[in-house]
Amino acid sequence: MSNHYDIIAIGAGSGGLSVAERAASYGAKCAVIEAGELGGTCVNVGCVPKKVMWYGAGLAHALKDAQDYGFDVTIGDLNWEKLVMKRDSFIGGINDWYYDYLAGQNVELIEGFAKFVDDKTIEVDGERYTADTIVIATGGRPIVPDDIPGAELGYDSDGFFNDIDEQQPQKAVIVGGGYIALELAMMMDGFGSEVSVLHQGWPVLLGFDETIQKALRSEMEASNISINDDDIIEKVEKQDDEKVTIIYKSGEKITDIDALIWAIGRKPNTDNIGLENTNVEVADNGMIVVDELEKTNVSGIYAIGDIIGKAPLTPVAIAAGRRLGDRLYGGKPERKMNYDTIATVMFTHPPIGTVGMSEATAKEKYGEDIKIYQTSFVPMYHQLTRHKVKTTMKLIVTGENEKIVGCHVIGLGADEMMQGFAVAIRMGATKADFDDTIAIHPVSAEELVTMK
Ligand SMILES: Cc1cc2nc3c(=O)[nH]c(=O)nc-3n(C[C@H](O)[C@H](O)[C@H](O)COP(=O)(O)OP(=O)(O)OC[C@H]3O[C@@H](n4cnc5c(N)ncnc54)[C@H](O)[C@@H]3O)c2cc1C
Repeated sequence: MSNHYDIIAIGAGSGGLSVAERAASYGAKCAVIEAGELGGTCVNVGCVPKKVMWYGAGLAHALKDAQDYGFDVTIGDLNWEKLVMKRDSFIGGINDWYYDYLAGQNVELIEGFAKFVDDKTIEVDGERYTADTIVIATGGRPIVPDDIPGAELGYDSDGFFNDIDEQQPQKAVIVGGGYIALELAMMMDGFGSEVSVLHQGWPVLLGFDETIQKALRSEMEASNISINDDDIIEKVEKQDDEKVTIIYKSGEKITDIDALIWAIGRKPNTDNIGLENTNVEVADNGMIVVDELEKTNVSGIYAIGDIIGKAPLTPVAIAAGRRLGDRLYGGKPERKMNYDTIATVMFTHPPIGTVGMSEATAKEKYGEDIKIYQTSFVPMYHQLTRHKVKTTMKLIVTGENEKIVGCHVIGLGADEMMQGFAVAIRMGATKADFDDTIAIHPVSAEELVTMK
């Protein structure tokens, strides 16, 4: 078989799979190259295992709540190994499904690590492949600090999902203040581990609305998580019993840690794919520079997903891939990716759903021409529980017609609430549209259409 294709996607994650699959549906001769498991970060070490664990931690909370509702529930230990085994077998099923699916879609899978030889040629395990169109969708990888002695004794988020499979870490330290760090911290707290979060300087969740940042912090403070936001780690040491100790610059220590987890950011997989053999422009932060059509500066080479540094989320990579396929092979030049007003959810406990601008961003854009509607309450479910987890909601509107430009919710159900509101907000909904919408009762979301 010839090694020339209409289109080759490098990386079978959310972006690469989507562009290949869509291009193939129009009859293009496609290949996707993957060095690891099909499905990429999201399926194997991201959204999917994370959400399974989030459900698990949610059940741990629910068991306590069940007691408050009158159930005679005895809370036993978590069988971590069983949970991880079931999670991984679920993921294995998705991987297998992808193999069959790709074959069914006429997308050829080339297994191995791809490197550019030149602008039109890629090499995998000594074999060369060429294509009219190459889409780079290599995603990113977690960062582990290289200036802290002993840092390698910790896990990153990939290691958390891949390597901690036998025993629940009883004592976990999570370093970082982004959504991955806080999701892991709140999940482990839910499972009953002793959890510390180390983050240099609050607020956490940079770029998020301040009200949400503060509300999340209060929930963390109300949990058993200990927060250290002003010390700096000097080194990490292994103890005789395989646990680790963190030593701070102040001299303080945390000992007997079963799992130290670095969640301090991710870097794009662009430094190891032979881009130096091409003319593709790469920004200082390693992200590939693309125009609004995901074209790089080299004709025939595109980049999508996390490596363009716009909105590192699975549905974004998928949508960009599909639209690119539509444009290139489906005769739909207008199918362009819009990176504005993308809704997202943080699977913390409670979850956070957000779409549109934070108050700070709205102020930068509209100055004083914004108005805030906000409410905070204990939802009905928690009226009967000992642990009162609050819900906070915020709408940011602008202009005389009060167009909604930001909607942020932290609280029970926020994860499932936001998708529909995102549709309305993307369509240009105003506060009056929300007010005219008859509420569903009794649910928390009704507060969003009855806010004063
Ligand atoms: C812990 C965690 C939780 C997350 N949770 C969510 C969430 O809840 N919701 C959400 O929307 N997003 C979430 N994300 C982000 C989401 O996973 C990414 O945005 C998404 O996977 C990006 O897709 P991609 O196609 O750009 O890259 P990836 O999915 O990372 O795929 C890239 C693929 O390329 C392969 N590859 C790299 N280099 C080469 C090479 N040279 N040759 C061959 N193959 C190569 C990799 O093995 C990988 O399979 C999470 C991420 C993490 C880490």
